[in-house]
Amino acid sequence: MALVVQKYGGTSMGTVERIRNVAKRVAKTYDAGNDMIVVVSAMSGETNKLVAFANDMCEFPDNREYDVLVASGEQVSIALLAMCLKSMGYKAKSYHGWQVPIVTDSVFSKARIEKIDDKKVRADLKDGTIIIVAGFQGVDKEGNVTTLGRGGSDTSAVAMAAGLKADVCEIYTDVDGVYTTDPNICQDARKIDKVSYDEMLELASLGAKVLQIRSVEFAKKFNVDIHVRSSFNDNPGTMVTKEDKDMETVLVSGIAYDKNEAKIAVMHVPDKPGIAAKLLSPLSDANISVDMIVQNVSEAGMTDFTFTVTKADFKKALAITKESAKEVNARDVVTDENITKVSIVGVGMRSHAGVATTMFETLAREGINIQMISTSEIKISVVVDNKYTELAVRVLHDAFGLAGKSAAME
Ligand code: ADP
Ligand code: ASP
Ligand code: MG
Repeated sequence: MALVVQKYGGTSMGTVERIRNVAKRVAKTYDAGNDMIVVVSAMSGETNKLVAFANDMCEFPDNREYDVLVASGEQVSIALLAMCLKSMGYKAKSYHGWQVPIVTDSVFSKARIEKIDDKKVRADLKDGTIIIVAGFQGVDKEGNVTTLGRGGSDTSAVAMAAGLKADVCEIYTDVDGVYTTDPNICQDARKIDKVSYDEMLELASLGAKVLQIRSVEFAKKFNVDIHVRSSFNDNPGTMVTKEDKDMETVLVSGIAYDKNEAKIAVMHVPDKPGIAAKLLSPLSDANISVDMIVQNVSEAGMTDFTFTVTKADFKKALAITKESAKEVNARDVVTDENITKVSIVGVGMRSHAGVATTMFETLAREGINIQMISTSEIKISVVVDNKYTELAVRVLHDAFGLAGKSAAME
C-alpha cells in the first residue's frame, strides 16, 4: 500500500461536474489500494474574484484580513469534494490548513511553511479515510490564517508529500505536463518527459505558472519527485526530478514569460555609494522582492536606477519608492506596467557558448527592443514591451529548435 498525494488545480475543480470527475479519479486510486491525501485549489476564477473584492474595498487592504478573505475559496472546494466522495460511499474528511495544521511564518499573502503536524492526518489515514486538504493556506503560531502566494496549492501538496513521506506526488492540472513553453500561447510547444529541479525552479520563477516556485524548492530539498499531469486524460505527464546526464545535452529546455511584473525607474539620482541600498531597503523592509535591476552609466555624476516588482506589489512599491526618491533628491519616478519578462532556461547553457547571442539576434531580427537583461548559470531573461510577448516566445522557441511532433493541445 502506497501513500499518494494528488493535487487538483482551479480548472480541474472549476465546476460541480469537474469536481465529480476529480472524485472519480481519487476513488480509482483509492480503490487500487492506496492511502490518499488530496490537496485542492479554489474553483477557477474564485481567488481572482476575492482579490478584486479586497481591492475594491480599500486601497491597501489589511494584510491579515486579506488572507482570511482569499483563503476562503479553497474552503468551498474541500467541502464539495469531500461531500461528493461521501455520497459515493467513501470515507472522506475535509481539512483547512489550520486543522492539519500546516504551520507557516506570519508573512501574510506569501507565508512559508515551517512545519506540518501529521498526527491527526495519520490517524484518519489509518482509519481508511481520504484526506482532503485546502491548498494555498496555513496558520501561523498565533493562530492567524495565512496564505502561501498565488498558485500556492502546489506548495501545499509537495509539502504534504514531503512531510508525510508520500510515495507519489501528482499535480493534476489543465495541460498534459510541463511543456517547452506555455502550450496556450505556442501551438508548437512540446511536452517534456523529464525536467530537473533546477530547470523547473528557473521556469517557475520566470513565469511558467504550471508549478509554483516554492513547490519546486520543497521538492528539491526533500527529494520529492513531482509528476505533473492532466486531470482530463490518463496521458503520462512530466517528471520533475534530480538532474541526470542526458539533460545537459539539451541547450535550452524551455521558454518562460511573465506578464506579472512592472517597472519602476528612479530618474536622475546621484551616482554614489549607498543609493541602491537607500532605494531598495525600504522595499525589502515591506517584504517586497525586487527582481531585475539596471543602473545606467552615469553622466555628470547622475544616473537612472530601474527595477521591476510584481504587479501585486506595484502600488505599495511605488508609494514607498516615491518617498525614498525624495530623500535621495531624484528628479522623477517613472513607471511602466506594460512589460513582459521573456526567459530561456536550460542546464545545457552551462557548457555551451553563444546562447545569449542567438537570443539577442533572434529578437533583433523581429525588431523587438530589449529593455533589461539578467542572466544566471542556466537562464537568460530580457524585459520587452508586452505587445511582443507571443512573438518573442514563438521566435525563440523556433530559434532553439524546441518545436516537436506531439501536439500541445491534444
Ligand atoms: P492549476 O489551476 O491547475 O494550478 P495553473 O493555471 O496554475 O493550473 O497552471 C497551468 C497553466 O500553466 C497552463 O494552463 C499553461 O497555460 C500555463 N503554463 C505556462 N507555462 C507552461 C509550461 N511551460 N508548461 C505547461 N504549462 C504552462
Ligand atoms: N487558489 C489560489 C490561486 O488562485 C491557489 C492555487 O490555485 O494554487 O492562486
Ligand atoms: Mg497553479
